[in-house]
Amino acid sequence: MNKYPKFINDFIRMCSDGYQQGWHERNGGNLTYRLTDEDIQDTKYLLEVHDTSYPIGTHVPHLANAYFLVTGSGKFFRNVVLDPEASIGIIQIDATGERYYKCWGLRNHSVPTSELPSHLMNHEVKMLATNGSHRVIYHAHPANLIALTFVFALDDKVFTKELWGAATECPVVFPSGVGVVDWMVPGGKDIAVASSEKMKEYDAIVWAHHGLFCSGESLDITFGLMHTIEKAAEIIVKARSMNLPRINQINDEELRQLAKDFQVTLPDKFLS
Ligand SMILES: [Zn+2]
Repeated sequence: MNKYPKFINDFIRMCSDGYQQGWHERNGGNLTYRLTDEDIQDTKYLLEVHDTSYPIGTHVPHLANAYFLVTGSGKFFRNVVLDPEASIGIIQIDATGERYYKCWGLRNHSVPTSELPSHLMNHEVKMLATNGSHRVIYHAHPANLIALTFVFALDDKVFTKELWGAATECPVVFPSGVGVVDWMVPGGKDIAVASSEKMKEYDAIVWAHHGLFCSGESLDITFGLMHTIEKAAEIIVKARSMNLPRINQINDEELRQLAKDFQVTLPDKFLS
């Protein structure tokens, strides 16, 4: 692992961590990271200049010329650590924001994740909304959260309140709540547009009957957000599996106390 700059090693480790959590069956899930200027300098010796560019499938003008480390289409997270250069790669967006160049990795004619349009549209929205601080978009298939999309209304408030009410850390870790996108065909521009609309408001978007998209400043923060939401979903599934009525939940007054003590703002629309 040491032959790569730290951010690549951290990215590889996150792929393994996600696989070990059980979130990446087969080639499920994808991860992208927007390089800092320092990362680009540290990686100069690896990056190749190519003439050939490829269409992104959407238009992300604010990401023009940015570099991203991405997982490859059809690649298995469990194999990333064994052969990074065949499983992941670095791309650069062209000056128009409509095409990309392959600069490193993605060996044997591999291409970036099929969810590249969703990732890049989400990156663009979050970069603009956070003054550049968000750099990571992570998509996984956590089973407990997906199970909830079969029994709860596909509604931002329903999911937010259930997750906040299940574990005390939740309103502190994701104070803006979670968004929910109805079932859609993955991999195209339509779901990318629907997700990026929600990403203007939230850092986590549930894809009904499919998985979760998370955005964050760092690999650790973004993995932690995925982990926290899935843990809360697991608690809900366990509690509901006991065949006993729920008689307690973290209530709105308690959520307000948490927000005050941890200095986060919870939107009024989620509190009665
Ligand atoms: Zn997926």
